[in-house]
Amino acid sequence: MRHRLLPINLRGLIFFVVILSVLATLANGLIVAYRIQRDALIHSTLDANSAYAAKVASSIGDFLLAAQSRLKFSAEVLSAHWDDPAVIRAEAMRLQAQDADFNSIVIVDDKGKVIQAYPDTLQIVGSTVRPDGLQFVLAKQRPLISGAYVSVGGNQVVAISQPIFNASGQFLGAIAGSVYLLKQSTLYSVISNHFHQEGTSAWVTDGDRRLLYHPDQKRIGQEANGNAAVAVALQGSSGSMQLNTDTGDSMLTGYAPVPLANWAVVVQLPADRALATLGQLLKEVFQGMIPAGIIGFGLVFAAAALIARPLRQLSAIARQLSTTDTITQLQRVHAWYHEASSIRQAMLTGVQLLQQKLGQLAQEAQSDPLTGLANRRAMTDVLELLEHAEQPYSLLLLDIDHFKRVNDSFGHDAGDSALQFISEILKRNSRAGDLACRYGGEEFVLVLPSTSKEVAIAIAERIRETVAASEVPIVGELTLSAGVACRGTEASTPEFVLRQADACLYRAKSEGRNRVIS
Ligand code: GH3
Ligand code: MG
Ligand code: MG
Repeated sequence: MRHRLLPINLRGLIFFVVILSVLATLANGLIVAYRIQRDALIHSTLDANSAYAAKVASSIGDFLLAAQSRLKFSAEVLSAHWDDPAVIRAEAMRLQAQDADFNSIVIVDDKGKVIQAYPDTLQIVGSTVRPDGLQFVLAKQRPLISGAYVSVGGNQVVAISQPIFNASGQFLGAIAGSVYLLKQSTLYSVISNHFHQEGTSAWVTDGDRRLLYHPDQKRIGQEANGNAAVAVALQGSSGSMQLNTDTGDSMLTGYAPVPLANWAVVVQLPADRALATLGQLLKEVFQGMIPAGIIGFGLVFAAAALIARPLRQLSAIARQLSTTDTITQLQRVHAWYHEASSIRQAMLTGVQLLQQKLGQLAQEAQSDPLTGLANRRAMTDVLELLEHAEQPYSLLLLDIDHFKRVNDSFGHDAGDSALQFISEILKRNSRAGDLACRYGGEEFVLVLPSTSKEVAIAIAERIRETVAASEVPIVGELTLSAGVACRGTEASTPEFVLRQADACLYRAKSEGRNRVIS
């Protein structure tokens, strides 16, 4: 059975397989490293954003608590001097001036009428508060923190308020401080002045999801988009989640509530930003591996060459098994590992057997009694042997020109001695390993193992010239014609080669004899 031959040698094969497995391992390592690092980064970013949201929420809570307690103190002062307008005005001024957190102070009675407001630029004393403003304080009669709304002065504000009761517990009115959301108020600083990873955005909403703080100031006062984290934080939970925005971006989101005001704090970093360092990291890992990789490739290449070398040499010799110095060549191969050594040993044995057999056949074939050359049967055996070992060879088919005339002119005996004379020329022109044989009558064959067509043609020419230049006893001048054919590395039967040589000989005859055709 014949197997298809791949167009690659052993060295290439080893190199290819090793490099392939190294690259596969490497790629697998990089992918695993990438996954682990990515998960770790996402996890730590979620944790960091959750902690950051909790920190901002607690800072806001502290700020609101402090503001409430200052208002409570004022409420007690006002309770004691509710019928003294001078004290009420002084308290409003003191609070607004002393306390940088409050942009304005408003004091209302139990009907919602403004009895004092500071700064005076507000010009609302005597008016009744709007339903969307301080009205709710009157209804609830307890400390409150409002959502975002637009103040009389046209600013986005939140109001912090405290009810005022007299000694007998009767509701008198309320005091409220407003805090700007947009301008550089303390609340603004509390929310915005946090150091955090670049690309992170933090925002705060009130209980109605209106934005109290947002990096894009234009959005303050507007409603936040349908963000799941806001909903969860407004229910009082804190934590983190990975969210997908409407545009399909993944957001690593931390959230926390401000329970005192029922506000929500959300901190987000796009996953792409969080993972930006990862690509760089892997690139550096990969670059770091390049020098070692090149050395590794070199080593693999050298090792592949070293392993393949004895087999390559043995393979080259196997193509020319029948040459005379095959045994010396085989002995010179450095078969440094077990398998190569076994193959070399087997080849040595095989070659010795082949050469023994060739010699033996040549010996036995000294059976053409007239010329002492091998006979046709011996030639067939040798050709079959060469075919079996898939060895290339060339073949010369020689035929004496107009031999019939020799017999006719000089007699049969003279013809016989002429045949012997030509045979001697053939013997002299064949090398050790070649086989000269009498193919029949006045036809001869010369088998030339491991001989190229060009060399075979040269040998044929030399024989032809020698014969033509010789003076044959009794007969005188004689010429011969020759056909040359060869078996290359591709398979072809001895019969086919002989047919080819015969066709060439036929042409040599028809083109005028005394010539070599291949
Ligand atoms: P050509 O080959 O150039 O076409 O001419 P040819 O005269 O050689 O033609 P052919 O091959 O037909 O003749 C071969 C002759 O060789 C026939 C026979 O007389 C002669 N012959 C064959 N065997 C022997 C032999 O053993 N001894 C002698 N003396 N003659 C032989
Ligand atoms: Mg002839
Ligand atoms: Mg003939």
